[in-house]
Amino acid sequence: MVSPEHNAGDGGHLGRYLGNGVGALRREDPDLYRLLELEHERQRETLSLVASCGGTDPSVLAVTGASIVNVTAEGYPGNRYHAGCRYVDEVELLAIERAKQVFGAQYVNVQPHCASFANHTVMQSVLDPGDTILGMALDQGGHLTHGSPVNLSGKLFTVHAYGLDDDGLIDYGRMAELAAEHQPKMIVCGTTSYPRAIDFDRIRAIADTVGAYVLADVTHIAGLIAAGLHASPIDAAHFTTTCTFKQLYGPRGGLIMMGRDADAPSADGKRTLSQRIQSAVFPMMQGSPEVHTIAAKARAMGRLLDPAFRELAERILANATAMAKALTTRGYDVIGGGTDNHIVLFRTPERLNGLIAERALEACDILVNKNKIPGDTRSAVVASGVRLGTNTAALRGLGPSEMDTCADLLDTVLHAVEPGERGAFHLDDAVRAQVAAEVHRLCRDFPLPYDPAPSADLVGAGTEH
Ligand SMILES: *Cc1c(COP(=O)(O)O)cnc(C)c1O
Repeated sequence: MVSPEHNAGDGGHLGRYLGNGVGALRREDPDLYRLLELEHERQRETLSLVASCGGTDPSVLAVTGASIVNVTAEGYPGNRYHAGCRYVDEVELLAIERAKQVFGAQYVNVQPHCASFANHTVMQSVLDPGDTILGMALDQGGHLTHGSPVNLSGKLFTVHAYGLDDDGLIDYGRMAELAAEHQPKMIVCGTTSYPRAIDFDRIRAIADTVGAYVLADVTHIAGLIAAGLHASPIDAAHFTTTCTFKQLYGPRGGLIMMGRDADAPSADGKRTLSQRIQSAVFPMMQGSPEVHTIAAKARAMGRLLDPAFRELAERILANATAMAKALTTRGYDVIGGGTDNHIVLFRTPERLNGLIAERALEACDILVNKNKIPGDTRSAVVASGVRLGTNTAALRGLGPSEMDTCADLLDTVLHAVEPGERGAFHLDDAVRAQVAAEVHRLCRDFPLPYDPAPSADLVGAGTEH
């Protein structure tokens, strides 16, 4: 048996083991190693304004590579189906404790493999196939798992979709009408491309008029909620879900959280709502948990509890506000009139579309994504809008004045690009080179954390055009 004193604290064996693994990979599989290194280089030398991206700290990455991954641990702490779970149990309890603290939650389940699974799990815990739910339409900013016809949620349940009003704001009035008309068992809220604040209390009030559960999927704004910069759904909703890799800067994974309704009785009259979640995650939906990911969630939560995270979250907001203003000043139609979070959604100039804008910007190492906007007549793969997000820029330390520079770069590209057929475009070489050079300068001045020095051997290999 390993004694806790043995090698604990100096990290010697584990640290060497991880380092040896990297060395072995490099020696034994140079082809794969080179691809991974090129990808790393690409991330260093591109300016990601993709709203669904964050960035993982190398300490989080180290956790995901640790040998704790070898433990099969079906069940929950203190109640596993296998031996050898002593430290895994402690790690899971630590992740739960930290997540509760970060979000002010009464109950947290840290096992969901991703936000999509977390949503399916919440639905399976309290709904029966055929039940009626309300969800936000996919093309209005909802997520696939909120009842889209192409997703399991849309196949299992009878879905009525709400969306945005003419001003691009969530149409709560319509939500209330749909609730009264269809008597749903659940209202799903939370969005992927909505720049404005969500009124969770109002949604709960609507749900209460018909006795529906509220599922708030806050994947996009979880970091702002953790920092107290967006109203929290933890007590307003019955269930709150999030992924851990977008605005929480953690590993790929999900969480299910509950506030004041954790101990409320469920419809069967026997178990509480949180007990139903507990058995819905395992054994109903999942098998053995990804214990290394749970450990990485604990690390990510630890970082969220650090006061430095509040500064990062404030920078996310300040950057998005500055970006919305800078684009508005340059004549762009910013949807929703601005932003309350990390997202800025704008209409592309008339002669372009989202697809061409995305491709032309990528040619200059600026990453964005095409996105439908309210009333869009184009399909999602072309779209009339561009969605920007400031999570990664804030992580790099870029601030509001750099957002002005970024808006200039975007504007330069969108003015210069000449649209062709089917997403093809022409961009003047001089413009491309000038914008890319400016992007690379920004990336070097604002490196990813713990990754400062440019590596001369790889610069240009696959990132310059
Ligand atoms: C990204 C996203 C998801 C999916 O997260 P995964 O962890 O990739 O499953 C779910 N809901 C919303 C609102 C999202 O933005």
